[in-house]
Amino acid sequence: MGKKERILLIKSRILEHYKDATTALNHTNIYELLVAVMLSAQCTDERVNLVTPKFFKVYPSTKELARADIDSIKELIKSINFFNNKARYLKEMAQEVEQNFDGKIPTTQKELISLSGVGQKSANVVLGEFLNQNFMAVDTHVFRVSHRLGLSDAKTPIETEKELSAIFKTNLNSLHQGLVLFGRHICKARTPLCTLCFLEDLCSSSDKRI
Ligand code: SF4
Repeated sequence: MGKKERILLIKSRILEHYKDATTALNHTNIYELLVAVMLSAQCTDERVNLVTPKFFKVYPSTKELARADIDSIKELIKSINFFNNKARYLKEMAQEVEQNFDGKIPTTQKELISLSGVGQKSANVVLGEFLNQNFMAVDTHVFRVSHRLGLSDAKTPIETEKELSAIFKTNLNSLHQGLVLFGRHICKARTPLCTLCFLEDLCSSSDKRI
C-alpha cells in the first residue's frame, strides 16, 4: 500500500470511529472555552470541569476577571495543576482582552497567541472547536499516536502540527479530537491496546504489542 493511500485510510477510519468528537471541556461561549483550555494544560478535563462552574459564576467574562484579586482566583482553581501560574495568566489574559480587544476574545491565531498563557496548541483548540476553523492541535496524545503510526517524525509538537496539517489537509479539528480520544483510550502511552486497535493493520510501531 502506498503512503498516500495509508494516510487516507487512517484519516477516514479516525473520522468514522470518532464521529462528531468534540472537546470534553464544558463551556457555553468562547471566553469559557479559552479559560477551560488554559486550565487544562497538564490537567484532566474532568478536573477542569469540576472547577469551572463556580469560576464562571464568579468571573462571567474578562471584565470581571481582569479586575479580580489574584488570591481569589488561586483559591477557586487551587485543585488544578500549576494553579499559581495559571491564575496569573488568566488575569493577564483578561486584562489584555479588555485593553487590546475591546473585551472580546480575538478570533485569529495570531491575536490569540498574543495573549498571556495562550500557546499555539490552545489557540488552535479554541479556533477549531468554537469557530470550526481548520486547525490541528498537537497535545501529548496526538504527538505519541502520530509518531507510532508513522504520520510524523518531527521532534516538536509545532513541527508535528505542520506535518499533520500538510498530510491531512481537511477536517483537522475533528482529526485532532479523534486522535486525542484514540490516544486516551486505545493507543495509550504505557500499554497500547493493540488487539482492540482499528488501525492495527496500518501500524508498524515498535511499541505495538501483538
Ligand atoms: S497497533 Fe498499537 S501501537 Fe499501533 S496504533 Fe494501534 S494501539 Fe497504537
